[in-house]
Amino acid sequence: DVTATKGNEFEDYYLKRELLMGIFEAGFERPSPIQEESIPIALTGRDILARAKNGTGKTAAFTIPVLEKVNTQKPKIQALILVPTRELALQTSQVCKNLGKHMAVQVMVSTGGTVLKDDIMRLKETVHVVVGTPGRVLDLAGKGICDLSECQTFVMDEADKLLSPEFTPVIESLLSHFPKQRQIMLYSATFPMVVKSFKDKHMVKPYEINLMDELTLRGVTQYYAYVEERQKVHCLNTLFSKLQINQSIIFCNSTNRVELLAKKITELGYSCFFSHARMRQQDRNRVFHDFRKGVCRNLVCSDLLTRGIDIQAVNVVINFDFPKNAETYLHRIGRSGRFGHLGLAINLITYEDRFNLYKIEQELGTEIKPIPPVIDKHLY
Ligand code: ADP
Ligand code: MG
Repeated sequence: DVTATKGNEFEDYYLKRELLMGIFEAGFERPSPIQEESIPIALTGRDILARAKNGTGKTAAFTIPVLEKVNTQKPKIQALILVPTRELALQTSQVCKNLGKHMAVQVMVSTGGTVLKDDIMRLKETVHVVVGTPGRVLDLAGKGICDLSECQTFVMDEADKLLSPEFTPVIESLLSHFPKQRQIMLYSATFPMVVKSFKDKHMVKPYEINLMDELTLRGVTQYYAYVEERQKVHCLNTLFSKLQINQSIIFCNSTNRVELLAKKITELGYSCFFSHARMRQQDRNRVFHDFRKGVCRNLVCSDLLTRGIDIQAVNVVINFDFPKNAETYLHRIGRSGRFGHLGLAINLITYEDRFNLYKIEQELGTEIKPIPPVIDKHLY
């Protein structure tokens, strides 16, 4: 199941109604992790470099923003999706047509191994999105038949293959046909050096997504404290005064509680940001960006942020509300193994949470210990 997460909903992205219908009719109920990471950023126009395993829904991760951004009133090519093989081009264009079936979008496939004249004829009509392989598309662009002068989005799927030496010169020449202001999105399962050099040369501050690392609880010391619901804020206050927090993330289980708690923390005299699923994406992005930059020490949030978070400066994570399942717990507390820096996780456990605590501990094969009176500061 590619959507083994409880995250955003497709409705949260404010997509065109016709597109949303296509998405639901395709049987997609909620975004997969790579879609959750990629769609909102792609919609802002920022360059993206995304790594995710096969079968995780990368195609829709770039197709949905491409379709959202297409202006079907404008008879111009507005997006090019490049893939390394003909079969993949067909499959990808099918996804595009399928998700966009309620839109008046014109999708064209252009690959080698077909009659060039047919492509030329087709390009006399309106085309909004081209899905193709490098050789054929460059051929047509070079002849001035495939007009990329207003093509603002350039997607490369299986980018590691597309940037292998055989294709690099083709890609470089293709780029010269794009406008200066363009968005480049690369999707791949691996990122060899060729991708890095392409990134350095052609991309502008790309947003990097890496969903390849398995999350691990290694290096994270986990404690719980039994507490009554009405004592939670008091307990948090005590933790703040005792712990040496570099930066902390505090999780609540609902958007209301996020806002309430953020207010209380501020009243206690600690600086704090908050972020939750009901905020506008741009506000969430700003909060996240500023928090990452260290503008503020504490961040209260709901689970929307748990995916892909890896802020080195965060040394304490507090579950103000204990999560409902192991998956969520892992995403809140876990770190990507590659970095594996130390951290502290503290769980406030009410009477109702006790059974869940035990269950999650079992499921993750980890140990969550009672909080000691003094916490060794070398542990975080
Ligand atoms: P990748 O390119 O990452 O290997 P694909 O884009 O080919 O993965 O998607 C793999 C499968 O997952 C496809 O069958 C696709 O229809 C399905 N899929 C993608 N996104 C979703 C979603 N949000 N909900 C349900 N199924 C999805
Ligand atoms: Mg794919």
